[in-house]
Amino acid sequence: MSYLFMKGINKSFPGVRALKSVDFEAEKGEVHAIAGENGAGKSTLIKILSGAYQPDEGQIYLDGKQIKISDPHSGRTQGISVIYQELSLVPYMTVAENIFLGNMPSRLGAVRRSQMSKRAKEALEGIGFELNPSSLVKDLSIVQQQAVEIAKVLVEDAKIVVMDEPTALLPAREVETLFRVINTLRERGVTVLYISHRLNEIFEMADRVTVLKDGSKVGTVRPSDINQDGLVQMMIGRKPADRIYWSPERVEKLKDAPAVLEVEGLVGEENLHEVSLALRQGEILGVAGLVGSGKSELVQCIFGGKQPISGVIKVRGKEIKMISPRTSIRNKVGFLPADRKHQGLVLGMTIKLNATLTALPQFSKLGVVNQKKEDEVVSEQIEKLRIKCYSQNQQVDTLSGGNQQKVVMAKWLLPECEVLMFDEPTRGIDVGARSEIYELMIDYANQGGAIIIVSSDTQELLAVSDRIVVMGQGKMTGSFSREEATEDKIVRAMF
Ligand code: ADP
Ligand code: MG
Repeated sequence: MSYLFMKGINKSFPGVRALKSVDFEAEKGEVHAIAGENGAGKSTLIKILSGAYQPDEGQIYLDGKQIKISDPHSGRTQGISVIYQELSLVPYMTVAENIFLGNMPSRLGAVRRSQMSKRAKEALEGIGFELNPSSLVKDLSIVQQQAVEIAKVLVEDAKIVVMDEPTALLPAREVETLFRVINTLRERGVTVLYISHRLNEIFEMADRVTVLKDGSKVGTVRPSDINQDGLVQMMIGRKPADRIYWSPERVEKLKDAPAVLEVEGLVGEENLHEVSLALRQGEILGVAGLVGSGKSELVQCIFGGKQPISGVIKVRGKEIKMISPRTSIRNKVGFLPADRKHQGLVLGMTIKLNATLTALPQFSKLGVVNQKKEDEVVSEQIEKLRIKCYSQNQQVDTLSGGNQQKVVMAKWLLPECEVLMFDEPTRGIDVGARSEIYELMIDYANQGGAIIIVSSDTQELLAVSDRIVVMGQGKMTGSFSREEATEDKIVRAMF
């Protein structure tokens, strides 16, 4: 029997079978990824392992013995620790205090304190971190905080460490640091279960990967025995759409297209220094750059969500005098923010209300909304964008990330925007929904819409853009036609 064996796990919630007779096995000292689309059951499986949920049926065996995990505390004492995306550290306590929170070394007073510091330092060094045990946690970077959490569970003698999307909030350069820590855990015989949406990470780190789909296990494979397309196919149950959506024909057609948006010498308050660009009708322009390069501020300033200090913005050749979201909307320029949950949508409202938010005047006559027409066009959008929902009166916060993003798209397609600016359009969205969003973008562009897509995912930019510009320190540091653009060139221009 495997070191960890979760056998025949069933779990239902009202209206959904979240896990259907899932058998999950992991070995000692193995890094085992768990993959699957949103809603596949990944989190439910690890919540059952951690004791946060009880299974309806099934058993769990660890190291040959059946164990009962009645709650998360009982999970931890039996060696199963979960590191959640929202870390559970206390920001105003020291590194050492956090590591020993809830399990202080026994002797009291000064001795205990120095002993605590020493053991905290050792635990951190054990995973390759030099941190001062008396620093406050709030002053650490995210990866350092993760290290403190990991040191904490090691002090508690964790046998299994579960990480639910640990890299989602990490800047790219810190991901490698986390991977080093994970490697150390593996060498020390700790089993690491790792949920991730990022396929390249699974291929880089995992010894094996188990794929879930709709609550069932599809299979467990070694990354070396499969490629990315194969893994995607397991996750979505069909062949992945071609990962490159861009085509030379598209670029050819754009040659004679008129400019729809022109930006000249745009300067922003934070980190935007005299940026100029022109966007043609039907064109998809990718904007690459690191966090803090000014790429988000660029689109925010064009839309008017942030006020530029100076610069000229022209839409269809006409200068916009007062730059604001209201004038942008009037000029048919839409913006889909990175933080769609707080800025793109009103979460407590229905799909219908969110979708018609910017298009309401279209349905009103003398202040009275034509409900029938509104229902009709929203239904049309739901069908066109393939938004998975049971009714247009469903609240948007009950939808998956991909479907929420489609509602934000509907909100800008209904008023027939001619320019759409996306900031990190697929962050936190699973592969299946991601390719649907790319397809929708291409459709929109083929019908004459123009797109600016800001993304820290270079692969994403290469997949859809007709042209890619790179930003660094508030300036444009590179510009590539799609033919000449490569990941290497883009990354070099970022630095
Ligand atoms: P994943 O982590 O793979 O995205 P989850 O395990 O979170 O998937 O969810 C699996 C299914 O169970 C989904 O349909 C989800 O809506 C449902 N689900 C998860 N947790 C709950 C809950 N506490 N109450 C009701 N339904 C839930
Ligand atoms: Mg989850």
